[in-house]
Amino acid sequence: MFKAKAYSAASKTSPLVSAQIPRREPTERDVQIEILFCGICHSDLHYARDEWHDVMPAIYPCVPGHEIVGRVAKVGSAVTKFNAGDLVGVGCMVDADLTCPNCREGLEQFCPSQVLTYGGPDKHGTAPVTYGGYSDSIVVDEHFVLHIPANLDLAGAAPLLCAGITTYSPLRHWGVGKGKKVGIVGLGGLGHMGVKFAHAFGAHTVVFTTSPHKKEDALRLGADEVVISKNADEMQKHAGSFDFILDAVAAPHDINAYINLLARDGNITMVGAPEKPLPVAVFGLIMGRRSFSGSAIGGIAETQEMLDFCGTHNITADVEVIPIQKVNEAYERMTKSDVKYRFSIDMASLKSE
Ligand code: NAP
Ligand code: ZN
Repeated sequence: MFKAKAYSAASKTSPLVSAQIPRREPTERDVQIEILFCGICHSDLHYARDEWHDVMPAIYPCVPGHEIVGRVAKVGSAVTKFNAGDLVGVGCMVDADLTCPNCREGLEQFCPSQVLTYGGPDKHGTAPVTYGGYSDSIVVDEHFVLHIPANLDLAGAAPLLCAGITTYSPLRHWGVGKGKKVGIVGLGGLGHMGVKFAHAFGAHTVVFTTSPHKKEDALRLGADEVVISKNADEMQKHAGSFDFILDAVAAPHDINAYINLLARDGNITMVGAPEKPLPVAVFGLIMGRRSFSGSAIGGIAETQEMLDFCGTHNITADVEVIPIQKVNEAYERMTKSDVKYRFSIDMASLKSE
């Protein structure tokens, strides 16, 4: 066991503060990573403030962070895919049984024994729960470690590990591409990656935003059209026309307004995870055989596929790089939709703690 530097919250009302946490010495299957950047996902805030209490009660102390990139410091004797010095990433999962039907299909995110990067049961007994990436190092089973393409900017690559795969996976699953009209709801961390991917896949991409000042950015990111979702007339113009809509909104909102924009057999998928249930008017689904579904991150093989796609097309997140000392301020700005479009923590800033 060794000590790592980290930022940790002691309760749902406590700010994140400097702390020391235990990390295990790498076992034979493990990769020890020096963390260089970690993105700030809205899920980090939901969890640290225990907003998902009813489905996933938070356990404290809590070290969030699941958009991790870094350099391999050390590998265990049985590790085959990585060497010291490699640029690597870790996303939302650090363990799963790897034998269940979900794991065998490459869908580790649905494994009943899946362990999340933070707040999950620590099978190694190093700490009561797993601690995430707001830290200078992490030790992870090599199955859950990804290769980062060498051409990508590392601060911008970190958010690919969650925001990237969470939008790439449902867009692929629902066949988004040329000839499809696709909506992306909410231009935040996830939403702006959704726009980049939908555009790269060749779809006609429409952004729905509550923030009129984000319009120019949406077009620059690859949107063909931008709709200010508070404007009912603008919404109505698109009624019944979408093949697919990806909803990446973090707060309660009117989902029925979007269901009505779907064409026959259209689908709207939630990746946003508001703390309260969303009321659904079923007639919107019945009329037009429309469907409403959800999606969680993506499996490990698909995450690598997404990273390689990003390497080929030079896609990264648009980030505001911050020192870890600004993490609490970043959380406040996230609650006001004031992020362009992801915070990425430069972990060199932990050295002074
Ligand atoms: P984020 O950066 O804070 O972006 C959320 C965006 O939602 C905001 O920028 C804003 O966009 C819009 N929004 C916020 N409040 C709103 C409101 N009251 N009404 C309508 N729109 C509102 O968050 P994120 O990191 O992208 O995460 C988004 C959600 O996805 C979170 O709930 C997060 O927990 C969840 N998530 C799910 C998964 C998964 O696997 N399913 C993975 C990661 C994250 P505009 O300004 O454009 O309106
Ligand atoms: Zn996330």
